[in-house]
Amino acid sequence: MRFSDFNLHPDLQEGIDSLGFESPTAIQEQAIPLVLKDRDIIGSAQTGTGKTAAFLIPVIQHILEIGTPDYIKAMIIVPTRELAIQIDQQLQGLSYFAGLSSMAIYGGGDGTDFAQEKQALTEGAHIVICTPGRLIAHLNNEYVKTKHLSHLILDEADRMLDMGFFDDLMRIINYLPKKRQTLMFSATMPEEIRKMARKILKNPFEINIAISKPADKILQMAYVIYDHQKNELITYLLKNNSGKSILVFCSTKNNAKDLTRDLNKAGLAASEIHSDLEQTTRENVLLSFKNKEINFLVATDILSRGIDIEDIDLVINYDVPNDGEDYIHRIGRTARAEAEGVAITLINEKEAFKFSQIEKLLERSVHKAQVPSHLGETPEYNPKAKRKYNYKKKPYRGKKRGDK
Ligand code: AMP
Repeated sequence: MRFSDFNLHPDLQEGIDSLGFESPTAIQEQAIPLVLKDRDIIGSAQTGTGKTAAFLIPVIQHILEIGTPDYIKAMIIVPTRELAIQIDQQLQGLSYFAGLSSMAIYGGGDGTDFAQEKQALTEGAHIVICTPGRLIAHLNNEYVKTKHLSHLILDEADRMLDMGFFDDLMRIINYLPKKRQTLMFSATMPEEIRKMARKILKNPFEINIAISKPADKILQMAYVIYDHQKNELITYLLKNNSGKSILVFCSTKNNAKDLTRDLNKAGLAASEIHSDLEQTTRENVLLSFKNKEINFLVATDILSRGIDIEDIDLVINYDVPNDGEDYIHRIGRTARAEAEGVAITLINEKEAFKFSQIEKLLERSVHKAQVPSHLGETPEYNPKAKRKYNYKKKPYRGKKRGDK
């Protein structure tokens, strides 16, 4: 499935394209159609599953459909300022071409920030992303205009309750119009979350994106490496693991084809499998791999989910998968049943942040192995270095919306 199947507003679709999102993640595939149909949702999902875009995309679509002028249409409540900023960045990327205004409202700023936030809350940024305490500080001054609000999103609800925000949240919710769509996301679903859900959601649809952690018997490791060194490293790894059953995942068909060609040139009998091949060819290749007639297979994501091939000894990620779930699905091809397996991921200098998000999801760090010295200098692993997308901070546009 692709995002274009949702038939979204062209300005929003352009935003999605510009972020490089091609196909929806599991939670996006489930949540987007439901939110578009005005359903309330309670979603159990963690960071790394793409849950942010799962609620931002349909909410932006709704706001574009309504074509409203300057009112607060959506409020997102989150536990921490870091999350508020992160959501605002993704929102700015997604709505860049749609010209919506947004503001992250969180504690700790100075008087200027407070004044800017007040402006957004009175003149109506379309979407505000708030931490509870700071929002309460504004609500106490009684100028926050929420009459036209149609969407409320509570993100990381379990964390907010852990931080003691229950009363603040209920106060905020009482301030908002009763007629609204409410979406609630939480990594865990303890009874108190369900109790709160019963209070604030109407006939919610329950989405559960359970990420089961990879089996302990998979040895996970990674190499931090430049793109141009990857084929050589994989050639080296395959030569050192002859006789084993090895599956290499590439994000693109072109990488899969290039790599297979290089491996073949190096005398390694590798096959490829991707969507450019006829179905029967794909089936034959897969069968030969299963039957151990082929030891090395280079595949795009068409193989990462659902196909149960037994006894793969080594899975190599040619690049960092787009989300944690993909990573878990890919490495889950190894160490099935009783077997043990190894999963190696190649991380280029631009993918460190993405990989660190996966590590967060796994709740562990993955060992970064030394790249063989004959490959030359390699990049540093620096997850804080530049992200894949450089969002430009848009100024708050307040009343001027509509001049795009
Ligand atoms: P989240 O779980 O919302 O924190 O998202 C995790 C990461 O996945 C973020 O860096 C997003 O930019 C990225 N992401 C979300 N949806 C997609 C998608 N459909 N395709 C590729 N990347 C995505």
